[in-house]
Amino acid sequence: MFKARSSVVCGRVQPRPTVNRSVAATRTFTSSAPRNKQRLVILGSGWGGYEILRAIDKKRWNVTMVSPTNAFNFTPLLASCAVGTLEFRCAVEPVRRYSPQVKCYQAWCDTIDFKQKTLRCMPATPPVECERTTSASLTETSTTETQHPGTDTGFTLRYDKLVIAVGAYSQTFNVPGVKEHAHFLKDVRDARAIRTRIIECFEQANQPTLSDIQRRNLLNFCIVGGGPTGVEFSAELHDLLHAEIERHYPALARMAKITLYDVAPNILGNFDKSLGVYAEDKFRRDGISIKTRHHVERVEKDRMFVKEQGEVPFGLLVWSTGLAPNPLIQSIDSLEKHEKTQSLFTDQNLNVIRKEGHVDPDIWAIGDAANIKGQLLPATAQVANQKAKYLAQKLNKIVKDQEHTKAFEFHNKGSLAYLGDWKAIYDRSSAENVKTKESGRLAWLLWRSAYFTMTLSVRNKILVPTYCTRFLNWIFGRDLTRF
Ligand SMILES: Cc1cc2nc3c(=O)[nH]c(=O)nc-3n(C[C@H](O)[C@H](O)[C@H](O)COP(=O)(O)OP(=O)(O)OC[C@H]3O[C@@H](n4cnc5c(N)ncnc54)[C@H](O)[C@@H]3O)c2cc1C
Repeated sequence: MFKARSSVVCGRVQPRPTVNRSVAATRTFTSSAPRNKQRLVILGSGWGGYEILRAIDKKRWNVTMVSPTNAFNFTPLLASCAVGTLEFRCAVEPVRRYSPQVKCYQAWCDTIDFKQKTLRCMPATPPVECERTTSASLTETSTTETQHPGTDTGFTLRYDKLVIAVGAYSQTFNVPGVKEHAHFLKDVRDARAIRTRIIECFEQANQPTLSDIQRRNLLNFCIVGGGPTGVEFSAELHDLLHAEIERHYPALARMAKITLYDVAPNILGNFDKSLGVYAEDKFRRDGISIKTRHHVERVEKDRMFVKEQGEVPFGLLVWSTGLAPNPLIQSIDSLEKHEKTQSLFTDQNLNVIRKEGHVDPDIWAIGDAANIKGQLLPATAQVANQKAKYLAQKLNKIVKDQEHTKAFEFHNKGSLAYLGDWKAIYDRSSAENVKTKESGRLAWLLWRSAYFTMTLSVRNKILVPTYCTRFLNWIFGRDLTRF
């Protein structure tokens, strides 16, 4: 049995409930499957897990989803949500859409016992203060939920088949103070916290008691990480400053500054070089300062220390420097893993590989938590989504006792990044067949239409373009309310 070492989400305000171990030990249960149906447990409701949930044959499988959030986060739209271009609800899809057909537990999976085929889970909901429960009240009830009052109680689930899609955490490279003082952009709660902080910075800077130096410090927005997330957030922030902020805080808008830091010599290193240069030129013209080859050494509450620059005061620091392994994955030591990223190795059918060398036919791993041995693919939504579609098809065949031996094939649809002011870049230069790249307005159209087709529910298919074409923003402006 392997135990997750850490339960703390890296840099995210997502405290795990305090566990009363003595009580927890007595309140375990095993969910039982309806007769003849195999138990399929999906860990994670992200790009991998949610797509499986959508596509799986729920009539034939007894499906359980375990995820600390009860929604799917449409990550490509988070940067837009963080500045108010989009409303938060556009970027989430509730997993409850599929209940009661599917059982959903808002919980962390802490431990996988591969021999017993069980999972040890811990609720991700706040602990409920309850009266000391008598053994009578524990046995009287019949439903799973009421058998376990008090969400500080862990529980055990059995699986016949398991899909591991728990994603990855934000990488901090152990730079002191990052977890405590920087903002991450991994889910809609992060986007909400960033949006609140941006408006707070302007309202603080607007106080008559402040000096101009204090104002400039508050309105210094730093982004660390020159990958697509850091770049898109910088671009969205620039759009906000040059629209609503200029209109409503004209004096303060002139004091605001956006700086993008990276240790690498260029931003957007994974894109075609000419597109990276296009992005850098555009940012320079827009007044977004790019500080490549810069190393952040320490972060404090309202300042960071950069090796090449010294002390840098900031009002908001957004940190996006790649991925760190999920503690659940880190804790597993009987499966083969990528030495550097620690992601689980799978074969071409996405089954995990035992240390002894053979595949486990009942466990699959997809998304940022996994990689195919010998075919490393980028940690993107595109890869996670394609693997999930493939796996759902496979599972739907398996449940009907049909063969599915076809190996997974990735189809590169290209990478996109928004650069602000209705411009974007689109890179398909490393695709096997049609190689192409695009920049400017046409790439922006591709960027928006890609999200339109990928956005899942009908509700969001209507909402996203309404906001994205800036129809509502154009008429009413972005909402600058702080609450
Ligand atoms: C801001 C941002 C923008 C992005 N934009 C793009 C883009 O434009 N295009 C693109 O291709 N990719 C993009 N990505 C990358 C993409 O989002 C990821 O590659 C993708 O989310 C990976 O999917 P996943 O299912 O592996 O993980 P995730 O989507 O991260 O989902 C992981 C799930 O597992 C849950 N979980 C975590 N730990 C546990 C546990 N112990 N037990 C149970 N559940 C657990 C999490 O709560 C979550 O629900 C972006 C990422 C970010 C952060």
